Amino acid sequence: MILVTGGAGFIGGNFVLDYLANPKVSGLVNLDKLTYAGNPETLKSVEHDPRYHFIQGDIGNISLVSDLLEKFAITAIVNFAAESHVDRSILGPGEFIQTNVVGTFHLLEAVRAYWEKLPSGPKESFRFLHVSTDEVYGTLAPTDPAFSETNPYEPNSPYSASKAASDHLVRAWHHTYGLPVLTTNCSNNYGPYHFPEKLIPLVILNAINGKNLPIYGDGQQIRDWLYVKDHCSAIRRVLEKGQVGQTYNIGGWNEKTNLEVVRTICQILDSIQPKPHGSYADQITYVKDRPGHDRRYAIDASKIERELGWKPQETFDTGIRKTVEWYLSNTQWTQGVLSGNYQHWIDQQY
Ligand code: NAD
Repeated sequence: MILVTGGAGFIGGNFVLDYLANPKVSGLVNLDKLTYAGNPETLKSVEHDPRYHFIQGDIGNISLVSDLLEKFAITAIVNFAAESHVDRSILGPGEFIQTNVVGTFHLLEAVRAYWEKLPSGPKESFRFLHVSTDEVYGTLAPTDPAFSETNPYEPNSPYSASKAASDHLVRAWHHTYGLPVLTTNCSNNYGPYHFPEKLIPLVILNAINGKNLPIYGDGQQIRDWLYVKDHCSAIRRVLEKGQVGQTYNIGGWNEKTNLEVVRTICQILDSIQPKPHGSYADQITYVKDRPGHDRRYAIDASKIERELGWKPQETFDTGIRKTVEWYLSNTQWTQGVLSGNYQHWIDQQY
């Protein structure tokens, strides 16, 4: 039985669904605090699966985590739980330090105490996989090589600094206490069940609702995009085959400017759901740039490809088309998240 934290969020939710789609797996416990970013609707289809156990709670609650580890005889952990939105971290960094740094520390301590008592056998095969981001490496100039696992950490936002701190704690718990950890640093994800405060779902939903498509600054910021299901398959691969103590960068070799991403979404929408007049691109509006906005991220994923034989299944073109189609056909989910609370946050932003 594995323990997933933050499994009601975007990537965690996709991971839970994909993991349980395999009839051979014995089960999964999902520990999620259900912040604004956690959405039980995402997990409706597995709610009654006897192999699925949902617990609402905080990764920082040591006694709760300890009880869960014992009760379900956990053999591995995948830690997705985090505050994850850069803009929110700029407005209020406190929660980011609390969950991403202090919460990860408490989680590590609960897991260490449990792991140290495991008998030989389960102790050696136990794994703690920490899910992190490429943003810990900082920003790249246009001609710099993509981030490899040996790049120095140079985080620039409160979000990336808090994730960098958590990565360092995870690393230290391996080197100091021997905890069998693995860390993954992934590029920007996109796909189904993505909360529409992030660029791609925001643009799709604003476009079809006749709203502005906000672009920060000149729109030339470059991100490296990976379809979320490919991230999930990479995490499963690292969990099965990764070498303890190692870090694996995960990416799709898909560098795009934000403007290119938005234009591509508009072209897809123009082709499948044309407006009576003009293009969705007419809704593009340039807004003031985010402070300290990193210019370029790019991931060199050659280590995971070479050592673990993982490759993404989707190109950006196939993944983004699937994503647009998913948002058009899953209106119940999207209406659920487009609540008053969400709208209040968006109104503050743009
Ligand atoms: P998300 O914000 O969609 O989901 C986070 C989940 O964690 C939510 O369900 C939330 O309720 C839960 N959570 C928050 N604080 C918690 C706490 N204290 N205890 C328990 N649960 C808590 O985030 P996401 O986009 O799915 O990202 C998941 C992980 O992947 C994060 O660690 C993030 O840093 C990392 N990551 C994200 C991306 C991306 O593009 N989204 C890329 C690389 C890495």
